[in-house]
Parts: sequence; structure tokens; C-alpha cells
Amino acid sequence: MKKIALLIILLGWSALAHASGSLDSVRVWPAPDKTRVVFDLAAAPKHSYFTLYDGQPYRLVIDLAGTRNATDLDALDFESMMVQRIRTSSAPNGSTTRIVLELSEGVTPTVFPLPPNERYGHRLVVDIPGQSVPEERITRTADRLPERKVIVAIDPGHGGEDPGSIGPAGTYEKNVTLPVAQRLADAINADPGMQAVLVRSADYGVPLNQRTRAARRERADMFISLHADAFTTPQPHGASVWVLSRRRANTELGRWLENREQHSELLGGAAEILTSNGGDPYLARTLLDMSIDNSMSGGFDAANILLKELEGITRLHRREPQAASFAVLNSPDIPSVLVELGFISNPQEEQRLRSSGHQQRLANALYNGVREYFVRHPLDGTILANTKVRKHTVSSGDSLSVIAQRYNTSVGAIQRHNELNSTVLRVGQVLEIPSS
Ligand SMILES: [Zn+2]
Repeated sequence: MKKIALLIILLGWSALAHASGSLDSVRVWPAPDKTRVVFDLAAAPKHSYFTLYDGQPYRLVIDLAGTRNATDLDALDFESMMVQRIRTSSAPNGSTTRIVLELSEGVTPTVFPLPPNERYGHRLVVDIPGQSVPEERITRTADRLPERKVIVAIDPGHGGEDPGSIGPAGTYEKNVTLPVAQRLADAINADPGMQAVLVRSADYGVPLNQRTRAARRERADMFISLHADAFTTPQPHGASVWVLSRRRANTELGRWLENREQHSELLGGAAEILTSNGGDPYLARTLLDMSIDNSMSGGFDAANILLKELEGITRLHRREPQAASFAVLNSPDIPSVLVELGFISNPQEEQRLRSSGHQQRLANALYNGVREYFVRHPLDGTILANTKVRKHTVSSGDSLSVIAQRYNTSVGAIQRHNELNSTVLRVGQVLEIPSS
């Protein structure tokens, strides 16, 4: 009986504490197109806001009524080109917390509350539009070089407010996909025949449809989305590779044909043929169909090659490419694959996915696979199409004799070609493999 009474008191107490409202934390996510500021609140926000844009610094003032500030805003660490500072200011009354965002431009903010979900409680979200992180644009050399680089778009899954799956030791999927993507981009950019484009380069969210749109905008030749699997039990483990399924392609096809504008964007050069033919719907369908067929078979081939490379360094969950209807893969004109790097829900695999050594091995395997794909499926006018020499990125456990055996050549030939004075290799080193 005593216990029950105590419980009721505790429940009543916590209900009271919630009703009084508090600002518990502030999170800031600078992205290429906006800065998102999220206020975590103990109760649904009673908020109002106004702007003071008469001079610099431009100020967005947010009042949270009935809310006590439980955060130290000065300790907030972020770098945004749009939001210079977040501070408190004297409030109109004692029960209100007044927050001031100092902005570099007088832009129109979007302010909206979000209800609790399985991960977060009550939130007030403030979006400040405008470029907030320096954009890493690729340098185009295509105009000056007779041969162009193959462009690979790499999509590190999740980010920002969306952590993806969470491992038993608390590892966020978004924090595994980003470093592997960055290491893969580094390996690709070190290759004179290839250029990487990262769909996101830091910890922010990118909507699904914008991920493939970024790949199309950069005229990518391949799209790779990186993820880590999760299951409700700890046993499943291993990597897998997915490609766009035909079924999805068919439903998407119908939708695209309804939207002429998006449709010509997808068809690229073919759009001009369409216009000159008065927009014949059958021709449109045939052309789009062909491009879907091509990119699908391309995706399957790429997936097979990637699986072969991954097999050397990690266990596989499925040995065959899997077909899926992931929204992120709905780019019909680019061979697109989604790589599940492993199961973050498996305790051993979670530890491996966290280790920089394993992240580098995964990146090397993916790099080798992507390169292999474009050597086997040469694209007209690309440097790789005329490459006779193959490249190998050294991963841990590699030795010259293992590599020589694999490419059917000799240790001496590799040493001579790469001007190596010893047989000592370092992980990540790129060797040219002379044709035997
Ligand atoms: Zn994921």
C-alpha cells in the first residue's frame, strides 16, 4: 500500500514537472540549403516569434511561454553560414524563455512544432533557409580534357535528425555510413579516372528524393547508397547489395509520364527527340523503358562485382544482389545500388562497423568494385574506358604474392611497374597492376 502511494506521488510530481515546461536541449543541423535548429521541450511548445531585420545582426526572436531554460546556450557548438549565434534575452515575463537567433541574412524562417516520436519528445523546429555549409562542388574538367572522369555519387544513408538504425552499444547508422562514404570518396578521387560526389558531407538530413536528384544534377555515372542493416534479434550478420526492382520501376514509370517536366529532366538528351516528335507518348515510354532496363542491368552487374569485393573482407548476408523498391534508388537513368555494410544490430558487427580499419577495408573493397565495373563496362569518352592497367588498393592482409596471384601476374612485375624497392605494403596504398 505504501508503495502504491509513493508511486502516485511520484507520478503526480513528474506530471507537474512536465506541465511547467522546460527547454531541455538545442540541436543545430547546418545543411547545404538551410540550417535546422531543434528545441527539445518537456511539453508541447506554446511559442510565438518575430524578426528584427532593421540592421545587423538580423535577429529572429522566439518566445517559449511557460518554459524554463535548462540549457547552456553558450556551450552550443556549431558552424553555420546562416546562424551566427543562439542566445537568450530578457523575456517579457518571468515564465517565458526568450531565444534570439542571430542570422547573417534577413530570411523568412519556417517554425513548426513536432509531437513526440519513438526517439524524441516534444520539439519546436526552426528552419533558416540559405546555404549553411560550404558546398563541395566537383571541379569539372570534362570541357578541357579529351577524356572525362567517371562520376560516382555516394549517398551516406540517414543524417541529422535521422540517426538510422541504432546498434546495441548505441552506434548510430548515420555515423557509420558517413566515414565509409568519405573514405570511399577519397579512394575514388585519388584515381585519375574517377570523381566522387558526396550527397551529404556532414551530419545533416537530406530528403530521399533529393538524394538521387543530386546525383542527376552532377551527371553521375553511378549512384551508391550506403546503409547498415538492423534486425530485431542480434544473430543476423553480413553485408548485402540491393538494386532497383522492376516492379517499382513500373509504378514509377507511370508517375513520371504524368509529369512532363520531370520526365524530360530524366530523359536528358532524349527530351529533344521527344519535343521534335510532338511528345509522342509511346516514344517517351519506350525511351524511358530502355533507360530503366539499362540502368537495372547495370545495377545488377555492379552489385555482383561489389559483392565479390566485399566477400574478401566481410561476411555476406546474401550472396546474390537483392531487388528492392527503396525510394532512394528510384533513379532510372543511373545504375544504382544500395549497400548494406553489415548488421549494426549484431554486437560483433557493430564493433567492426565502428572501427576505422574496417571502414577503410569496406571503402577499399567498394572502390575496387566500382572501378572494376567501369573497366568492364567502359563508358565512351571516359579515361577508364581506355585503361589497360588495373589498380589495386591494398587492404590489411594483402601481400604482393597474394595480389600477384589474384591478377595472374608476378611479384617482380608489380614491383617494377610501381618502382617498389621492398615488398612492404601499407593499407590504402594503390598499386598499378601491369597486364600480364
Ligand atoms: Zn539505413
